[in-house]
Amino acid sequence: MERDLHVHTFFSPCAEPTMSFEAILEAAARAGLYEVGLVDHPHRPGLDRHQVALDRARETHRGPVHAWIGAELEVVGFQRLAIPPSQLPAADYILAAASHYDVVRAPPVIHLEDPFEWADRLMSDLENAVGSGAHVIAHPFYAYVLVHPTPGVRLAALDDILAEIRPARVDRWLESLAREGMALEISPRACTHLGLESFLEGVYRKAKQLGIQFATGSDAHRVGAIGAFGQAEQLIRRLELGERDLWSPTYAIRARARTPQTNTIRGH
Ligand SMILES: [Zn+2]
Ligand SMILES: [Zn+2]
Repeated sequence: MERDLHVHTFFSPCAEPTMSFEAILEAAARAGLYEVGLVDHPHRPGLDRHQVALDRARETHRGPVHAWIGAELEVVGFQRLAIPPSQLPAADYILAAASHYDVVRAPPVIHLEDPFEWADRLMSDLENAVGSGAHVIAHPFYAYVLVHPTPGVRLAALDDILAEIRPARVDRWLESLAREGMALEISPRACTHLGLESFLEGVYRKAKQLGIQFATGSDAHRVGAIGAFGQAEQLIRRLELGERDLWSPTYAIRARARTPQTNTIRGH
Protein backbone atom coordinates (compact mmCIF):
# COMPACT_ATOMS: atom_id res chain seq x y z
CA MET A 1 0.00 0.00 0.00
CA GLU A 2 1.25 3.47 -0.81
CA ARG A 3 -1.38 5.44 1.07
CA ASP A 4 -2.64 5.21 4.62
CA LEU A 5 -5.39 7.79 5.01
CA HIS A 6 -6.59 6.84 8.49
CA VAL A 7 -4.00 7.42 11.22
CA HIS A 8 -4.96 8.97 14.56
CA THR A 9 -2.67 11.46 16.30
CA PHE A 10 -2.40 11.90 20.08
CA PHE A 11 -5.30 14.36 19.85
CA SER A 12 -7.71 11.41 19.61
CA PRO A 13 -8.29 10.08 23.16
CA CYS A 14 -8.18 6.50 21.82
CA ALA A 15 -4.70 6.93 20.28
CA GLU A 16 -1.39 6.51 22.09
CA PRO A 17 0.24 9.71 23.35
CA THR A 18 3.34 8.88 21.25
CA MET A 19 1.39 9.58 18.03
CA SER A 20 3.02 12.94 17.26
CA PHE A 21 3.41 14.40 13.78
CA GLU A 22 7.13 13.52 13.68
CA ALA A 23 6.67 9.98 15.01
CA ILE A 24 3.88 9.25 12.53
CA LEU A 25 5.81 10.61 9.54
CA GLU A 26 8.90 8.63 10.53
CA ALA A 27 6.90 5.40 10.89
CA ALA A 28 5.11 6.07 7.59
CA ALA A 29 8.47 6.42 5.82
CA ARG A 30 9.70 3.19 7.44
CA ALA A 31 6.51 1.44 6.24
CA GLY A 32 7.26 2.60 2.69
CA LEU A 33 4.20 4.87 2.39
CA TYR A 34 4.10 7.85 0.03
CA GLU A 35 1.13 9.49 1.72
CA VAL A 36 -0.25 9.46 5.23
CA GLY A 37 -3.53 10.98 6.42
CA LEU A 38 -3.67 12.32 9.98
CA VAL A 39 -7.25 12.07 11.14
CA ASP A 40 -8.75 12.70 14.55
CA HIS A 41 -12.05 12.43 16.33
CA PRO A 42 -13.70 15.63 17.58
CA HIS A 43 -14.10 14.07 21.05
CA ARG A 44 -12.60 17.06 22.80
CA PRO A 45 -12.60 20.73 21.90
CA GLY A 46 -9.82 22.29 19.83
CA LEU A 47 -9.59 19.96 16.81
CA ASP A 48 -9.51 23.01 14.53
CA ARG A 49 -6.50 24.46 16.39
CA HIS A 50 -4.77 21.05 16.47
CA GLN A 51 -5.14 20.84 12.69
CA VAL A 52 -3.65 24.31 12.22
CA ALA A 53 -0.63 23.13 14.27
CA LEU A 54 -0.33 20.00 12.08
CA ASP A 55 -0.52 22.19 8.99
CA ARG A 56 2.39 24.28 10.31
CA ALA A 57 4.38 21.15 11.13
CA ARG A 58 4.03 19.81 7.60
CA GLU A 59 5.12 23.12 6.06
CA THR A 60 8.55 22.76 7.59
CA HIS A 61 8.73 18.97 7.36
CA ARG A 62 11.25 17.45 4.95
CA GLY A 63 10.90 13.79 4.07
CA PRO A 64 9.62 11.26 1.54
CA VAL A 65 6.05 11.07 2.88
CA HIS A 66 3.33 13.61 2.14
CA ALA A 67 1.03 14.38 5.08
CA TRP A 68 -2.68 15.04 4.64
CA ILE A 69 -4.88 16.44 7.38
CA GLY A 70 -8.31 14.95 7.91
CA ALA A 71 -10.94 14.26 10.54
CA GLU A 72 -13.13 11.30 11.46
CA LEU A 73 -16.55 12.68 12.33
CA GLU A 74 -19.47 10.62 13.57
CA VAL A 75 -22.70 10.62 11.66
CA VAL A 76 -25.32 12.02 14.07
CA GLY A 77 -28.34 12.52 11.82
CA PHE A 78 -29.59 13.03 8.29
CA GLN A 79 -26.65 14.55 6.36
CA ARG A 80 -25.25 15.63 9.72
CA LEU A 81 -21.85 14.98 11.32
CA ALA A 82 -20.71 15.47 14.93
CA ILE A 83 -19.35 18.87 13.89
CA PRO A 84 -19.91 20.61 10.55
CA PRO A 85 -16.86 20.19 8.24
CA SER A 86 -16.92 23.99 7.72
CA GLN A 87 -15.63 24.32 11.30
CA LEU A 88 -12.41 22.57 10.27
CA PRO A 89 -10.93 24.87 7.59
CA ALA A 90 -7.48 23.25 7.82
CA ALA A 91 -8.83 19.75 7.04
CA ASP A 92 -8.09 18.43 3.54
CA TYR A 93 -10.78 15.75 3.84
CA ILE A 94 -13.41 14.27 6.12
CA LEU A 95 -14.14 10.64 6.99
CA ALA A 96 -17.72 9.89 8.05
CA ALA A 97 -17.89 7.31 10.84
CA ALA A 98 -21.37 5.84 10.61
CA SER A 99 -21.27 3.20 13.32
CA HIS A 100 -19.28 4.36 16.35
CA TYR A 101 -21.82 2.98 18.78
CA ASP A 102 -19.01 2.33 21.28
CA VAL A 103 -18.52 6.07 21.82
CA VAL A 104 -22.20 7.04 21.82
CA ARG A 105 -23.60 6.40 25.29
CA ALA A 106 -27.21 5.76 24.26
CA PRO A 107 -28.01 2.25 22.92
CA PRO A 108 -28.14 2.35 19.11
CA VAL A 109 -31.27 0.17 18.94
CA ILE A 110 -34.11 -0.53 21.39
CA HIS A 111 -33.99 -4.33 21.16
CA LEU A 112 -30.30 -5.27 21.19
CA GLU A 113 -31.09 -8.89 20.29
CA ASP A 114 -33.07 -7.98 17.18
CA PRO A 115 -30.94 -8.34 14.02
CA PHE A 116 -33.52 -6.51 11.91
CA GLU A 117 -33.34 -3.39 14.07
CA TRP A 118 -29.54 -3.45 13.88
CA ALA A 119 -29.59 -3.93 10.11
CA ASP A 120 -31.92 -0.97 9.73
CA ARG A 121 -29.79 1.15 12.05
CA LEU A 122 -26.52 0.35 10.24
CA MET A 123 -28.07 1.17 6.87
CA SER A 124 -29.75 4.37 8.11
CA ASP A 125 -26.48 5.70 9.48
CA LEU A 126 -24.65 4.89 6.24
CA GLU A 127 -27.43 6.58 4.24
CA ASN A 128 -27.32 9.62 6.53
CA ALA A 129 -23.61 10.10 5.74
CA VAL A 130 -24.38 10.84 2.10
CA GLY A 131 -24.52 14.59 1.55
CA SER A 132 -22.99 15.35 4.96
CA GLY A 133 -19.91 16.99 3.49
CA ALA A 134 -17.76 13.92 4.17
CA HIS A 135 -15.60 12.53 1.37
CA VAL A 136 -15.10 8.96 2.59
CA ILE A 137 -17.19 6.43 4.54
CA ALA A 138 -14.86 5.11 7.27
CA HIS A 139 -14.87 1.34 7.93
CA PRO A 140 -18.34 0.70 6.41
CA PHE A 141 -20.58 -1.82 8.23
CA TYR A 142 -18.00 -2.22 11.00
CA ALA A 143 -19.32 -1.63 14.50
CA TYR A 144 -16.95 -2.27 17.38
CA VAL A 145 -19.75 -3.39 19.71
CA LEU A 146 -20.85 -6.08 17.26
CA VAL A 147 -17.38 -7.43 16.49
CA HIS A 148 -16.26 -7.28 20.15
CA PRO A 149 -19.47 -7.81 22.17
CA THR A 150 -19.35 -6.96 25.86
CA PRO A 151 -19.55 -10.18 27.95
CA GLY A 152 -22.93 -10.52 29.61
CA VAL A 153 -24.69 -8.25 27.12
CA ARG A 154 -26.96 -10.15 24.76
CA LEU A 155 -26.63 -8.75 21.26
CA ALA A 156 -27.78 -9.92 17.85
CA ALA A 157 -25.02 -11.85 16.06
CA LEU A 158 -23.25 -9.90 13.33
CA ASP A 159 -23.90 -12.64 10.74
CA ASP A 160 -27.65 -12.50 11.48
CA ILE A 161 -27.59 -8.71 11.15
CA LEU A 162 -25.77 -8.82 7.81
CA ALA A 163 -28.30 -11.40 6.58
CA GLU A 164 -31.10 -8.91 7.31
CA ILE A 165 -29.56 -6.18 5.15
CA ARG A 166 -31.50 -6.02 1.89
CA PRO A 167 -29.24 -6.01 -1.19
CA ALA A 168 -31.55 -3.56 -2.95
CA ARG A 169 -31.08 -1.06 -0.12
CA VAL A 170 -27.28 -1.45 -0.32
CA ASP A 171 -27.48 -0.88 -4.10
CA ARG A 172 -29.48 2.34 -3.66
CA TRP A 173 -27.00 3.56 -1.07
CA LEU A 174 -24.03 2.75 -3.33
CA GLU A 175 -25.71 4.59 -6.22
CA SER A 176 -26.07 7.67 -4.00
CA LEU A 177 -22.37 7.45 -3.06
CA ALA A 178 -21.46 7.26 -6.75
CA ARG A 179 -23.62 10.32 -7.51
CA GLU A 180 -22.00 12.30 -4.67
CA GLY A 181 -18.48 11.15 -5.57
CA MET A 182 -17.94 9.68 -2.11
CA ALA A 183 -15.33 6.98 -1.51
CA LEU A 184 -15.45 3.83 0.61
CA GLU A 185 -12.66 3.03 3.03
CA ILE A 186 -10.96 -0.36 3.06
CA SER A 187 -9.36 -0.98 6.42
CA PRO A 188 -8.08 -3.95 8.44
CA ARG A 189 -11.34 -3.67 10.40
CA ALA A 190 -13.06 -5.26 7.36
CA CYS A 191 -11.22 -8.49 8.17
CA THR A 192 -11.94 -8.69 11.91
CA HIS A 193 -14.90 -11.02 11.29
CA LEU A 194 -15.16 -13.62 8.52
CA GLY A 195 -18.83 -12.92 7.75
CA LEU A 196 -18.18 -9.18 7.61
CA GLU A 197 -15.23 -9.65 5.27
CA SER A 198 -17.20 -11.69 2.72
CA PHE A 199 -20.20 -9.35 2.98
CA LEU A 200 -17.94 -6.36 2.40
CA GLU A 201 -16.16 -7.99 -0.50
CA GLY A 202 -19.54 -8.22 -2.26
CA VAL A 203 -20.32 -4.59 -1.45
CA TYR A 204 -16.88 -3.44 -2.66
CA ARG A 205 -17.26 -5.35 -5.94
CA LYS A 206 -20.60 -3.65 -6.64
CA ALA A 207 -19.09 -0.30 -5.66
CA LYS A 208 -16.20 -0.78 -8.07
CA GLN A 209 -18.65 -1.47 -10.91
CA LEU A 210 -20.40 1.81 -10.12
CA GLY A 211 -17.10 3.71 -10.33
CA ILE A 212 -16.87 4.39 -6.58
CA GLN A 213 -13.32 4.91 -5.38
CA PHE A 214 -11.63 3.30 -2.39
CA ALA A 215 -9.61 4.94 0.36
CA THR A 216 -7.05 2.74 2.07
CA GLY A 217 -6.70 3.41 5.80
CA SER A 218 -5.22 1.35 8.62
CA ASP A 219 -7.08 3.15 11.45
CA ALA A 220 -3.76 3.12 13.33
CA HIS A 221 -3.84 4.29 16.96
CA ARG A 222 -0.18 3.39 17.61
CA VAL A 223 3.03 3.82 15.62
CA GLY A 224 3.42 0.10 14.84
CA ALA A 225 0.04 -0.07 13.09
CA ILE A 226 0.77 2.68 10.54
CA GLY A 227 0.65 1.26 7.01
CA ALA A 228 -0.19 -2.21 8.39
CA PHE A 229 -3.19 -3.59 6.51
CA GLY A 230 -2.85 -7.23 7.51
CA GLN A 231 -5.48 -9.43 5.85
CA ALA A 232 -7.02 -6.40 4.15
CA GLU A 233 -4.07 -6.44 1.74
CA GLN A 234 -5.36 -9.69 0.27
CA LEU A 235 -8.86 -8.26 0.10
CA ILE A 236 -7.53 -5.24 -1.81
CA ARG A 237 -5.55 -7.53 -4.14
CA ARG A 238 -8.65 -9.66 -4.83
CA LEU A 239 -10.60 -6.52 -5.79
CA GLU A 240 -7.93 -5.79 -8.46
CA LEU A 241 -8.03 -2.06 -7.89
CA GLY A 242 -6.20 0.15 -10.35
CA GLU A 243 -4.77 3.61 -9.65
CA ARG A 244 -8.07 5.18 -10.81
CA ASP A 245 -10.02 3.13 -8.26
CA LEU A 246 -7.97 4.52 -5.40
CA TRP A 247 -9.15 7.70 -3.75
CA SER A 248 -6.76 10.45 -2.69
CA PRO A 249 -7.47 13.71 -0.82
CA THR A 250 -6.46 15.55 -4.01
CA TYR A 251 -10.00 14.70 -5.22
CA ALA A 252 -11.50 16.52 -2.21
CA ILE A 253 -9.27 19.54 -2.82
CA ARG A 254 -10.12 19.66 -6.54
CA ALA A 255 -13.84 19.42 -5.75
CA ARG A 256 -13.52 22.35 -3.32
CA ALA A 257 -11.67 24.43 -5.90
CA ARG A 258 -14.59 23.89 -8.31
CA THR A 259 -17.29 24.89 -5.81
CA PRO A 260 -17.04 28.73 -5.96
CA GLN A 261 -17.34 28.65 -9.79
CA THR A 262 -20.44 26.49 -9.58
CA ASN A 263 -21.98 28.97 -7.14
CA THR A 264 -21.26 31.88 -9.48
CA ILE A 265 -22.98 30.10 -12.34
CA ARG A 266 -25.97 29.32 -10.12
CA GLY A 267 -26.11 32.97 -9.02
CA HIS A 268 -26.88 34.20 -12.54
ZN1 LIG B 1 -13.56 4.88 13.40
ZN1 LIG C 1 -10.43 5.87 13.36
